[in-house]
Amino acid sequence: MPDIIRLLPDSIANQIAAGEVVQRPASAVKELLENAIDAGSDHIMLLVKDSGKTLIQVIDQGSGMSDADARMSFERHATSKIRHTDDLFAIQTKGFRGEALASIAAIAQVELKTRKSGQELGTCILIEGSEVKSQETCACAEGTSIAVKNLFFNVPARRNFLKSDAVEFRHIMDEFERVAIAHPEITFVFHHNNTEVFNLPKSNLRQRLVGLFGNPYNARLVPLEEHTQILGMTGFIGKPEFAKRTRGEQFFFVNRRFIRNAYLHHAVQSAYSELLPKDAFPSYFIFLEVDPKTIDVNIHPTKTEIKFEDERSIYALLRSSVKKSLGQYNIAPSLDFNQEMSIELPLNPENRSVKAPEIKVDKNFNPFNNERKEKDAPQPDYFKTISWDKQYSNHSYNQSDLLKKQEEGTVEQNPQDSQHTLHGEWTEETEAHTEHKNFQLHNRYILAHIKSGFLLIDQQGAHERILYERFLEAMKEQKAFSQKNLFPESIQFSAGDMICIKALLPDLNAMGYEINEFGTNSVVINGVPAALTETDPAQILEGLIDEYKHHQSEFRHNQKEYIARMMAKKAAIPSGKKLSEEEMNHIVDELFACTMPYSTPDGKPAVLTYSLEELDRRFKK
Ligand code: ADP
Ligand code: MG
Repeated sequence: MPDIIRLLPDSIANQIAAGEVVQRPASAVKELLENAIDAGSDHIMLLVKDSGKTLIQVIDQGSGMSDADARMSFERHATSKIRHTDDLFAIQTKGFRGEALASIAAIAQVELKTRKSGQELGTCILIEGSEVKSQETCACAEGTSIAVKNLFFNVPARRNFLKSDAVEFRHIMDEFERVAIAHPEITFVFHHNNTEVFNLPKSNLRQRLVGLFGNPYNARLVPLEEHTQILGMTGFIGKPEFAKRTRGEQFFFVNRRFIRNAYLHHAVQSAYSELLPKDAFPSYFIFLEVDPKTIDVNIHPTKTEIKFEDERSIYALLRSSVKKSLGQYNIAPSLDFNQEMSIELPLNPENRSVKAPEIKVDKNFNPFNNERKEKDAPQPDYFKTISWDKQYSNHSYNQSDLLKKQEEGTVEQNPQDSQHTLHGEWTEETEAHTEHKNFQLHNRYILAHIKSGFLLIDQQGAHERILYERFLEAMKEQKAFSQKNLFPESIQFSAGDMICIKALLPDLNAMGYEINEFGTNSVVINGVPAALTETDPAQILEGLIDEYKHHQSEFRHNQKEYIARMMAKKAAIPSGKKLSEEEMNHIVDELFACTMPYSTPDGKPAVLTYSLEELDRRFKK
């Protein structure tokens, strides 16, 4: 029997290789744009017809090629970008595999015109299905122009599988965006069917993003910056309120190369988890700079996947930097504690006589008597662990201050003159407590003044946020307030549940529980966090086990957050509970001492801000 194995001719080998590199017009766009960048061009033009099916042309003002290089560039594995194996680990260019032009030329009709700087004439090559049709000297602009016509003209199966023009165009836009974002220092002009789609002058990243996505983006971006020994991180992340229901603009670049990475995406998404509902996606444009030695770009022909040496550290850094940026952006508006007292006074409805303020002294007041006013039902002591001496609770002023101000004439004596009206319920009680700072609406919301208007705080959501941050802090610092159980309670679990409990125990104990393993598959609870004395530990543990089983992957990354969130929900003041003035003050103080006061741990709003301007507008003033 004769031997049957043959080496494939180059044209077929190239065509097969092309299947990997060029899946659709957008892939050719990407490769050509990247070559133009590698050639050092600071002005790149992309001309596309019929979503790339008829023409893709990239014109650059880069280095250009000599006659011989121009011919070589279409050979497979022909590249000027690496020479030795070592170079693979120090890659600074977009390309290095030397297969793009060979692949493209295998499945299209290509016209290359190129001229090096200092040369009078350039060279023009026509190549079709890997076959060089002509090469001749020609007059052309400095730099390189490559026109790719009739993509897949010789691979009908491929051509027929291309999607509609709209879909293919969207893919081209995606590739264009990625390259344009990665290189704001380069001018990009993009025409489709002779119409200008983008004309993006050289600029900085923020301007580039605005150029691509529109003016409103300017106000939506929060800068991100972090430099450590393993990596540098810069870019922008989107403010949570502009998150989208569909995956929108999410970009990672590693050493200026766009990459996809579900793991790192998870890091960013989870940094937002407290600020966004589950089905919303934040925008981000994040640039990581790492030592090329620590990554492997060569694991996928299109190079959009990268292997990191130390992915876990990058995950942690990314997550904490995004959180930090979000926290900085979320700076609470300063509650205006120094504003004129007149604004603080609930206003007298007309025809009510104005009483001189009087100091009300409760002769029976005993600071050591913790008895609550609402005696009928036992109330959980939500405020037990809130410390009074926090520096930020200095806003509550006392009545002697108020009197002093009045003597100085800084307090409006006749509130009727004031323009501020607050339609709280006017009861004898409010009248007597003119020092009231905050109002409770329908036992659910707290209304607090700020200089520019007022805040409406959801009491339950706000308290969840406060407790959440406090629990997290306690877990990190390992200094929780714990209350010992007089009668330790033991709970029996199934063997499976016990595995979950064991995984949760260190964090639970760090936040103030004192839970110890006791025999096989049971635990004994010797103490609970001070803020959770009213809750049933058995019920909480069961709830946690349930969550743990259903969300193992989230738990793996964010166990502390998960536990803190759940506990905060269990222990927070419910909506519908009447709050004392003190309690309201506490909530406001503690909330604005939080790192992210504006949202609940679930990402719902905790505070709404109403500006006077908005009110004036609504009242048509
Ligand atoms: P790679 O980019 O991986 O090196 P390509 O097939 O994309 O492989 O390109 C082959 C070579 O052709 C490049 O290494 C480069 O030297 C040259 N080349 C391609 N496009 C350009 C261009 N626009 N300007 C200058 N040289 C280019
Ligand atoms: Mg290339």
